[in-house]
Parts: sequence; structure tokens; C-alpha cells
Amino acid sequence: MTEQAGLFDAEQLRVAPATDEPGLTPGAQMRRRQAAAIATGMHPLSLVAGNIRLHPAADQPTEDDHVITGLRCGGCVFYTRVGGHSRTYAKCWAGRTVTPIPRERQTKFGPKVTIREPRTSHGLATDLRRWWPACRQYEPKEPA
Ligand code: SF4
Repeated sequence: MTEQAGLFDAEQLRVAPATDEPGLTPGAQMRRRQAAAIATGMHPLSLVAGNIRLHPAADQPTEDDHVITGLRCGGCVFYTRVGGHSRTYAKCWAGRTVTPIPRERQTKFGPKVTIREPRTSHGLATDLRRWWPACRQYEPKEPA
């Protein structure tokens, strides 16, 4: 067998994964992984929803939910709040599609449409933060 170490030498591109510290809560560990993703140019949603790179002009995160300036998720047209009973959750609707189910395939009490939301789930890992730096799919909201 021949030595092929030089062919695909990507040692400089390797990033050490954020290690989980014992004693941290699961939420704190997730926030550490999300911060590590941002530091490497990836959007935090890329940890659970595929390869999502940061926008080249995205602002650096400041963890300030009250002041949303520049390119951040909070200023994006895809930033959506869902829920509406006791509380709501911020999700990203980029790539969301709603496809009507043909009438002949509908059941009496079944859904009338198929909804695909590749960046959402019912879990905490896909909750957005308004201050997160924007990804490349960012589109500014219409001015109010
Ligand atoms: S900036 Fe990207 S991740 Fe954030 S809401 Fe917009 S499309 Fe979603």
C-alpha cells in the first residue's frame, strides 16, 4: 500500500470540537457548541440542520437581544415565532415549503397540506436567538 498522506492533507483545516465539560447543564453544553460553531464561521443551526455558513457581512454576536443591528437572525424575514399558547419559540423558516395534498389522497380528518421545514424541530436545538449572526440565506425584513 502506498503512502497517500500528502494527497488530502487537511490538517490545517481541522478544528477541535468543543468538548463538553462535566458538570455543565445540557443547555450550557449546547451553548458552548453553538459558540464554537460561530467561531468557525458556521451558523449555530448547522449543528442540527446541515451545512449553514455565516453571511460574510454578519455581525459578531453580542448576546444582546434588545439591540439588533446589522445582519442578525432577528432582522431576517425567515425569523419566525411559533407556538402561541403559554410561550412561543423562535424558529428559522428558510427553505419552508407548503405543498397541497391532492384532494383524492386527503382523508376526512387528515392534513390538507404537507409542510417541510428543514431548519425546525420541536426541540431546543433549533430555537433561534435574535442576536445570532446571520447566515447566507439572510433576507432583510421589510421596513415597518
Ligand atoms: S439569518 Fe439565516 S438562520 Fe437566521 S433566520 Fe435568517 S435564514 Fe434563518
